[in-house]
Amino acid sequence: MATILYDADANLELIRHKQVAIIGYGSQGHAHALNLRDSGCNVVVGLPENSKSRERARQDGWSPVLPEEAAARAQVIMLLVPDQHQGQVYTQSIKPSLTEGKLLLIAHGFSLQYGQIVPPDNIDVAMVAPNGPGAQLRHMYSIGSGIPALWTIYQDVTGQARELTLSYAQALGCTRAGVIQTTLSEETETDLFAEQVVLCGGLTSLIRTAFETLVEAGYQPEVAYTCCLQEVKLIADLLYKGGIHFMHNSISDTAEFGDYVTGPRIIDEHTREKMRETLRDIQDGSFARNWILENQAGQPTLRAMRRKDATHQIETVGNK
Ligand code: NDP
Repeated sequence: MATILYDADANLELIRHKQVAIIGYGSQGHAHALNLRDSGCNVVVGLPENSKSRERARQDGWSPVLPEEAAARAQVIMLLVPDQHQGQVYTQSIKPSLTEGKLLLIAHGFSLQYGQIVPPDNIDVAMVAPNGPGAQLRHMYSIGSGIPALWTIYQDVTGQARELTLSYAQALGCTRAGVIQTTLSEETETDLFAEQVVLCGGLTSLIRTAFETLVEAGYQPEVAYTCCLQEVKLIADLLYKGGIHFMHNSISDTAEFGDYVTGPRIIDEHTREKMRETLRDIQDGSFARNWILENQAGQPTLRAMRRKDATHQIETVGNK
């Protein structure tokens, strides 16, 4: 069983007495910085001189400094730049000021798990990974609630990494909802697997292929769009609220019967084997290697796929 900790298991005072640097001010960065500030913490925001996020940070009342300056000032450094840039930002701006006993935090395990960041052995390293985008993290905190998070200690030199990490999670509002202890590999591998197989890759391929099948059979694209794409939200809301059985209780008997007889025809043993293959690629680092190489080459494949995606009929129908 997972260990879930709440407010009562953490001590907010610990993080309040540290200088915290938030590097990056995007989806996660803005929510971490604002939630921590509202929790009474001392926060400095680090962004490059030419960062597009500087304006947003200024509007929120920050005076951003360069990432290297923020890292030098702080005892706790949360790295919230895109995963594919973390190795470079770490090496150039963070590593030089990682003096003994500092705590380096990340919000997703990718860069540590796949060797993009190799921290020195005289600092603490931990992860607090909120289970949702920054907008939701901020919104839930603002209304007195929070979203859950996964956390783990990667390296504990001071003997205080656990308490300080939980204190950070509390300042973020996550211990209000519950934080689940995990390992770096579990968080990284399950996160990549779920986004590739279900949340992003699986879902969009399912929607697009179903849309194409209906249009090819002569149905109106607008009708195909509505039933294959837009209605996903209605089902996702039910799944989020109460799980699969709850969703089944909320839809028609016809839809429920169709689910039982057709679902396994679409997602069959062949698909299961492909899922296992995907998981192996994630576990042995093949996916990460490809993604790192793709970035080193300037993202040619990603750009080409984005262009192709944007011109698909489902997009023009949706826009209309
Ligand atoms: P975003 O792309 O939303 O924001 C990245 C921020 O980093 C921007 O402010 C960007 O500035 C800045 N940045 C980009 N390059 C650099 C650089 N070289 N030096 C300093 N700052 C830079 O990222 P996310 O917030 O989505 O992701 C941050 C981390 O949080 C990742 O590890 C991600 O996996 C994790 N995470 C994300 C979740 C999500 O739902 N988004 C959920 C949980 C974890 P600019 O505006 O100039 O580009």
